[in-house]
Order: sequence, then structure tokens, then C-alpha cells
Amino acid sequence: MALDSTALFSKLETDLAHTAAKIYRPDSADFDAIAQCFIYKPVRTPAVVRPRTADDVALVVQFCLRNKADFTVRSGGYDCAGRTRGDGALVIDMRDLNEVSISEDKCSATVGGGILHGQLARTLGEEGLVTPMVHRMEHARRLWPVIIRLRLGVDQILGAKFVNAQGEIQTASEELLISIRGGGGSLGIITELTIKVYPLDKILSSTILYESRNLEATITTYNQHYEHLLAAQELPDCLQLQPTITQIPNIGTVFGVMVTWYGENKEEGYAWIESFAKAGTCVMEATQETTLAEVLKERDNLVTWPSYGRLFTLSVRRLTERTITVLARHCPQAPGGGFIFSHHTLRSSQAPAQESVFGARTRHHMLEINAAISESSFVDERLEWGS
Ligand SMILES: Cc1cc2nc3c(=O)[nH]c(=O)nc-3n(C[C@H](O)[C@H](O)[C@H](O)COP(=O)(O)OP(=O)(O)OC[C@H]3O[C@@H](n4cnc5c(N)ncnc54)[C@H](O)[C@@H]3O)c2cc1C
Repeated sequence: MALDSTALFSKLETDLAHTAAKIYRPDSADFDAIAQCFIYKPVRTPAVVRPRTADDVALVVQFCLRNKADFTVRSGGYDCAGRTRGDGALVIDMRDLNEVSISEDKCSATVGGGILHGQLARTLGEEGLVTPMVHRMEHARRLWPVIIRLRLGVDQILGAKFVNAQGEIQTASEELLISIRGGGGSLGIITELTIKVYPLDKILSSTILYESRNLEATITTYNQHYEHLLAAQELPDCLQLQPTITQIPNIGTVFGVMVTWYGENKEEGYAWIESFAKAGTCVMEATQETTLAEVLKERDNLVTWPSYGRLFTLSVRRLTERTITVLARHCPQAPGGGFIFSHHTLRSSQAPAQESVFGARTRHHMLEINAAISESSFVDERLEWGS
């Protein structure tokens, strides 16, 4: 049955008529804005449906099963490889399942399955709370902005509800929770998560740039500083480091680090930021006392929608001399410039997790190679560079 048939979606409208779910067809005025994801993908999307409740999600899945209609699930639309939409597939857009309910003891919160972490950080922040997270908790296998002392996003999940492949709402058992912690939506459509939350008000957020005319030497000096502190076991868990390489117009390719301090003791945080500013010839240091919600908002503003291409990742145990040579040789050549590279780090301060399918907690850097750019004319060259 053709997915874009008017009859099919009239039937969906009938099935959902008694609900508050919204359906956007390609001729709806706001369709493009609603359907847009971070990575541009030239696909045919017959409709976007935005359920408001888990019952609505179950009805949509039952509809798709009955009518053999393909669908994809969408929340933030940030999938790095543009897999959020599929050609001819109905999009189930979860963003209206975004409630946040904080427990009385303020140790946990129950959140809707489509919550975006900017919004979650804002709501928790109003109560002086945070949670380690990425865009989507159950996919939180990647590491930013992880608050290391509180473990990874996946480790925060206490409970989950999801709509399974039969279109039924299911509460995850302890065994299924292990799969959801790292396996994300592979069991079904997550409609609700219960997560741990922690008291933390302000954080320190700093951007440091180093003089980088000799990029290889600059990365090497920084890396030696980092490795020395790591070996001496001096790096506190409240300190988050995300090195970056960016091509800046009229300046060139610049190595820097985004430093975040999640500790209560701000003096100690400022001292660590100063220590890292000295891990090279610092040409800029911008530090502010702020909130996690503000930092996320600022970083979101740096991302252009839509972008073309994709992000690639590669995990390495440490930055060897050879890795640094390769980075220094290729980053200045990235066609289209802009933000090129960063790496996210797990420092191995954690025991392997038994309660998650993402059990590996050994030290590593996840290299993020950015082949997603706002200028479509460079995309093929940038993808070739990235891969
Ligand atoms: C510029 C950029 C920077 C990033 N930086 C980081 C980073 O520092 N750290 C990090 O950890 N990650 C990072 N990511 C990755 C991002 O966190 C993941 O791609 C995440 O899965 C995006 O979630 P989303 O809801 O925005 O994406 P979507 O594209 O909406 O969803 C991602 C996947 O999850 C599925 N899905 C969505 N909602 C549900 C649901 N309710 N139930 C079941 N399945 C669902 C979708 O079908 C899709 O397969 C980055 C991504 C980008 C584009």
C-alpha cells in the first residue's frame, strides 16, 4: 500500500481523532520546519505524526502494523549520520512527550520519551538539579557533557516504559533495562524514563585557544600535560576536557579545549582552568560561571540546521605521536573549514558496568571527525576527507 495515499492518512487521522496527536502532511504550512533534521537527507516523508501520550504512540504503531506502513522514530533529529528519516517512512515525532516530574526527595525524575536535554537541563536547573546526559539518555553511549563523577548518561536510568513491536505499552523489567541502558530504542519506542538527578547549581565553562601555527607541536604539548596529570592521578572527576580543532577565517587552524568544571569548589575549578590554559601558548581564555542549561543553549546555537554530510567517530586508547601527526596533517585541509575535530574522553575512573549493555569503561578517547557542513557545495569533498 502506498504510504502517501490520502486514504491511508485519512485513516490515521480517524484513528487518532479522539487524541491530541497532530498530523503534518507535506502540504501543511509548517511541514518543512517540523520534518527538518540536523543532517539534510533528500527523502520522501509522507507525514509526520506527533503523539502526545504513550497511548497515542501505541495507536500509531498499531496503525502501522495493520497497514504495513514503514515508520521511523524521531526526537531531537540530531542523528549524526542522518538516519532519523527513511524514504517513504512515516515519522513518529516524540517531541511532545516532554513532561518532567521530579520526585519529592529530588533524587530522581520521570521524563517523557521525547525530551531534549536542553529542555531537561532547564527544568532541572530551576530546582538546582542536573543529570549527566547527551541528547537522548538511552543513547548516551557517547561522552559529552558527561559529569564524570556521576558516571555516564546510561547509568542514570532507573526505569523505562516503551511501546513494543506489537504496539503495546510495556514497563521494562530489570533485565530489559540492561538493554535500554546503551541499547536505546532497539526494544521499542521509549515513552518514559525515570532517571537519577543530582544537586548542582552553577558550573564553570571555559574555552581556551592555543597558538597553533605548529599544530602538531601544540597538540603534543597539550597532550603531554594531560597524560602527565592522568598518570599522576591528579585529574579530578569534576573536570571535563573536550579538545577541539577549528578552522577560523583569517586566522587558520586552531587547537583549543573546552573545559567544564562541575565541582562545588569554584576556586579549585578556576585553578584547573588556569593549569590547562598553560598547556600551550594561550591566545584566548573565556571563562564563565554559568549553568548547564546555558552551556547547552550556547552550544546548540553553534550548530547549523540543516547540515550536509555526517559525523564520523573512531575510538583510540590514547593520542599517540602518530595520531597527532595525522590530525595535524589533515585537519588544516578539511574542505569547507569550520569546526573539524574534537575528542571526548573516558578516563577509566570507573569500574565496568554490569547493569548496562554499554559495559566497557576502559580509558579511551572517542575522536569526533566532523564531515557535516552547512555549505552543501563542499559536501562530497568533506565526506571524502572525513572517511
Ligand atoms: C553536532 C553533534 C554533536 C554531538 N555531540 C554529542 C556528544 O558530545 N555526546 C554525545 O553523547 N552525543 C553527541 N551527539 C550525538 C547525539 O547525542 C545522538 O545522535 C543522539 O542519539 C541524538 O538524539 P536525538 O533525539 O537528537 O536524535 P534523533 O535523530 O531524533 O534520534 C536518534 C535515534 O534514536 C531513535 N529515537 C529517537 N527517539 C526515540 C525514542 N523515544 N524511542 C526509541 N528510539 C528513539 C531515532 O529513531 C534515531 O535512530 C552529537 C550529535 C551531533 C549532530
